[in-house]
Amino acid sequence: MRALLLLLVLGSLLPADDVTLKNGQVHKNLTLVKEMPKQFQYETLDGRVLTFMKDAVQDRIVAATPLDEFRKRRGALPAGNVAAMVELAAWGQEQGVSKETKKLWDAALKADPENAAARAALGFHRLDGKWLSEAEFAKARDASLEAGWKLRGWRKVKDKWLRPVEAFRAEKGLVEVQGQWVTVAQQKKIETEKLNWCAYGTWVSADDKQQLDAGLLKEKGKWVPAANLDAAHADQKNPWTLTTGTVALNTNVRHERALKILSVADDIYSGLVKVGGVHPDSNGKWMPLLLLVGRGIKSYQGMGAAFGASDREANHSSGYGAFMSSKGLGDFGGLALTYDNDDDDWMRVWVGHALGHAYLDRFKPEDTHEERLTEAFAGYAAALHGGSWQPTWWYWCRWLKDGPIPDASRIIEAASYRDDKSLAWAGTLLHWLSKKNETAFGEFWETFGMGRGNAADLLKACCSVDGKLDAKAMDEEFQAWVTKMRGTFRPWDK
Ligand SMILES: [Zn+2]
Repeated sequence: MRALLLLLVLGSLLPADDVTLKNGQVHKNLTLVKEMPKQFQYETLDGRVLTFMKDAVQDRIVAATPLDEFRKRRGALPAGNVAAMVELAAWGQEQGVSKETKKLWDAALKADPENAAARAALGFHRLDGKWLSEAEFAKARDASLEAGWKLRGWRKVKDKWLRPVEAFRAEKGLVEVQGQWVTVAQQKKIETEKLNWCAYGTWVSADDKQQLDAGLLKEKGKWVPAANLDAAHADQKNPWTLTTGTVALNTNVRHERALKILSVADDIYSGLVKVGGVHPDSNGKWMPLLLLVGRGIKSYQGMGAAFGASDREANHSSGYGAFMSSKGLGDFGGLALTYDNDDDDWMRVWVGHALGHAYLDRFKPEDTHEERLTEAFAGYAAALHGGSWQPTWWYWCRWLKDGPIPDASRIIEAASYRDDKSLAWAGTLLHWLSKKNETAFGEFWETFGMGRGNAADLLKACCSVDGKLDAKAMDEEFQAWVTKMRGTFRPWDK
């Protein structure tokens, strides 16, 4: 090793042939190959041949080049000593002696097909215990990406892999207008007639929009305060139907309250769509997430009948108030159900929890998702705000501020809709995981939506290093983060 180091130092200091031509060009690091009566023939470090007419040469400094040095050392290599070959090849590479070095790498690889340095230098990649060339590796990587997209329900449209809802839009040629996806013909009409999207899911004139925004509604040709119609809509059979385009709300609560619930749902939705990439479609169609909110628990009870079953059978009924159905309703895939008691804090948590369920169920209509992890996701959704996990002050004080929190490796298995605290903890863990690896986190939920994956897969996806998960290190890191968060938490709503 000492001898090698010495050579390395000497090698890099060795002067080399420099040729200065009469036209001012200077060529450095040349090795004289042949001197002919009227010409010099040189070789460059990377193996190219240069020929100069003698009478064009102004000046010549004769010295050894790295190529000379390389050849000298190559000749002196002990036979069959792969380590020495690798060392010299690495040196040659550094010096720019590319052609000769490549030959030496090939020779090293022939002597030792498993030599990692030679494999790497020659552009091989290791995949599933096999060495693949650059081209083979690129092909395998594409295949594995494609397999991942398929797992996540993506479809190929015109040679491009797209998420289901993006594929749907591409196939239908939809364009975005005021946050809504419409056909080109609809777009033309909207622009010509200067229409505006409104919370009732329709396109209205600017004048009508102004009245609607002022809280008025048209009743028998007259604009009246929406509150005047609350009594008529208190009946579950004639609910208010409002929509943002991505979330639709059917409810028999007061109109003012309905607008508030819709804005909370929209706020939570912005966080959900950030996790899953885009709005999930419903059986191949663009449909908003449907949220049904009963006015008090009485209105909720009996909703199961709408699905042709008892509440218990039709709905997953939580121990703390959020409900959902994975069975869907008509064209709506998974949908969210809950009730409202005029309590803003509980309303936010229940709406978030229920939308979390509905969101996942959109990816795959049947209820195929592992239960604990689904609850963990719903617990996460319950604290979403402004596109990320941000508990309210009330939520924080109720579930997170004090007391021990389980280890990261144990939280999800404890997540249960019978224990509201376990949902808050699981949500906290999910937030931490999303910060650890946002891409892996998002991809995992798309895959999970398609009915694959469990808690161990999620932890591995977000926390493993070189494919290995160190559970102890993860638990320690999570606990340290919880402690830090408790010292710095600032609620957004206080
Ligand atoms: Zn739940």
